[in-house]
Amino acid sequence: MQVLSRVLIATAVTVIAMSLTAPMAFATPDAQPNRIRVEYVPPTNPEHQKIYEMVKERRTLEKLQEIFGAFRLPSDLLLRTVGCDGVSNAWYQRGRVSVCYEYLSEIQRMMPHETTPAGITPADAVIGQFFFVVAHEMGHAMFDMLDVPVLGGSEDAADHFATYIILQFGKDQARRLIAGAAHSYKDFVQNPKVTVPLAAFSNTHSPPPVRFYNMLCLAYGADRVLFADVVTNGYLPAERASACRKEYGEVAFAFKALLGPHLDKAIARQVMQSNWLPEETTKPAQH
Ligand SMILES: [Zn+2]
Repeated sequence: MQVLSRVLIATAVTVIAMSLTAPMAFATPDAQPNRIRVEYVPPTNPEHQKIYEMVKERRTLEKLQEIFGAFRLPSDLLLRTVGCDGVSNAWYQRGRVSVCYEYLSEIQRMMPHETTPAGITPADAVIGQFFFVVAHEMGHAMFDMLDVPVLGGSEDAADHFATYIILQFGKDQARRLIAGAAHSYKDFVQNPKVTVPLAAFSNTHSPPPVRFYNMLCLAYGADRVLFADVVTNGYLPAERASACRKEYGEVAFAFKALLGPHLDKAIARQVMQSNWLPEETTKPAQH
């Protein structure tokens, strides 16, 4: 009995030790890069035909396939555009990221007609928001498919994942993508005082202004010169800005520890050095 219990205790200790030392940040042996598959599902709603042809012609999904192909995945991940019967959404579920044509249309509809006073071109507003949304869903996909533990809200973690990825591109692209993505929150951050129903704070996503500030804070924390005007122009309050370098450091540390081992470094380097954005037709007012 005593021998048996000693064996059991030893086994239990080993199991506990293993679970403590296995943060699951090791790449799965048979995981491979370039496992993103793409599909433009033909729309059933004729109103979506134009946007369907546009994203297909611009090879939008193929670009994302290449960018996120740097992650070594244990199985294929499908990225698709699809009609959603009137619902404007994007989501991740069981190895599949779906972006509705309704959502793409909405992004297009909301774009500014001309370069904004903050220097955001209509094209950058569309691309920035679209890229951020896809990268957010990719974040959910990576957490799930790579068994990445998430401490805290997974919606905030997916936002951090998306922002961190954007900030790894060259300065010009990072700046344009962050500006475009931040612009999508403009309706939520125009008034210095907001009144919302209490239930708005119960959503799994943080309230839009919080997501806006989190994004700007990480950007400023990553590069206080490139994003200096985020503070000087009053988009990000100075009190928050003082903590942003630390906040960015925490996200960078988590990303490197948890997702770094799943990245094909050579592909990732190539992806980050490539130019993904179209030539700017209008130069930003402040740069
Ligand atoms: Zn989400």
